[in-house]
Amino acid sequence: MKILVINSGSSSIKFKLFDMSDESVICKGLIEQIGQANSGVKITNVKTGANVERSMPITNHGFGIDMMNFLLFEVGSLQSLADIAAVGHRVVQGADVFKSAVLVDADVLRKIEALIPLAPLHNLASISGIRECQRVSPQIPNVAVFDTVFHQSMPPEAYMYALPWELYENHKIRRYGAHGTSHEYVSKQAAKLLGKDENELNAISLHIGSGASVCAIKGGKCVDTSMGLTPLEGLMMGTRSGDIDPAIVPFLLEYTRYTPAEIDAIMNKKSGLMAIAGTNDMRDIHQKVSEGDTKASLALAMHVRRAKKYIGAYHAIIGQIDCIIFTAGIGENDAKWRAAVCEGLEIFGIEIDKAKNEQNSHENRDISKDDSKIKILVIPTDEELAIAQKTKEAIEK
Ligand code: ADP
Repeated sequence: MKILVINSGSSSIKFKLFDMSDESVICKGLIEQIGQANSGVKITNVKTGANVERSMPITNHGFGIDMMNFLLFEVGSLQSLADIAAVGHRVVQGADVFKSAVLVDADVLRKIEALIPLAPLHNLASISGIRECQRVSPQIPNVAVFDTVFHQSMPPEAYMYALPWELYENHKIRRYGAHGTSHEYVSKQAAKLLGKDENELNAISLHIGSGASVCAIKGGKCVDTSMGLTPLEGLMMGTRSGDIDPAIVPFLLEYTRYTPAEIDAIMNKKSGLMAIAGTNDMRDIHQKVSEGDTKASLALAMHVRRAKKYIGAYHAIIGQIDCIIFTAGIGENDAKWRAAVCEGLEIFGIEIDKAKNEQNSHENRDISKDDSKIKILVIPTDEELAIAQKTKEAIEK
């Protein structure tokens, strides 16, 4: 069975075609800078190594999907679109409306549309991706897989903001979280690695890429997470501020000439590591630190400190924990960052093994000392595979 996974971002489409008989990737591709003059596509047939890279004007997501279909044939990954059993779409915001991945019909599309105000760029992009797939191949089922579903098990004391009740009732303002598909996937992998029943795992999962979030997992379920109504809350990120005093927003509106849209752009696109160090790439930050750049050192220290704070907070919320999980670009690859975050946590029984931490690997692995009470795991995330698995489950239901 072949399943195509489409991850539509605001200006990009990532896609992967899976052979679900062994969960291997047949082909993967990326369409970037949609709507810009410098847009282009890359696609690789993983099985044969054939690849195509082309710069061309891709004006919108619909055209991007058409190009993807065309290139799937060109690199020899597909003989017929009818070979695709289903398409799984990543949808960022399912709010409290969706409690699992669902087969898309007109009603589901209407409900995803109604959630656009909670994730304007992302949900709109997913909808256009789904619509185009329906138009091109109406016979192929589409499944929506939501980033928010794993966090639906949070208790109200975790998801409510201490704001007037009417804001929750009339505007759905509460915490929904994000990266749920990744946190769920790595926590299941962690349970496997530790030989534990996944429904008994207590863990703190840190998804640290450009976007970053922490998830408190108790009995295999999410009980708290650092992202909120939108993916802006929580950790310091590549270009996002994470937690700030909310009074900064009215202050800026009152005393500067920034418009609400400009303030939103500042907090989402011009803050985080970028604001302090002048780059959002953690590799560049380490390079600058080694050259004595004090702002890069400060940015790194801030980024690490925020992650430590959440580990402490979630340890207190969960109680006894089995493991800390690191995943995504920085979590998986950056041994220096992991060592910095774990430094000083020995008192809690979290003890990193220097040599194991520094070993390069793409495997699931334990990097804690043999006698560390709480295990420290590095688990490479695979959101696309997780989406493919959920898509398969949804069509087999
Ligand atoms: P996203 O999917 O949110 O765009 P990623 O998970 O790809 O982000 O992570 C991007 C981040 O990971 C960047 O800050 C990048 O510098 C960092 N990263 C990737 N590889 C390494 C590495 N080998 N060492 C340190 N940081 C890395």
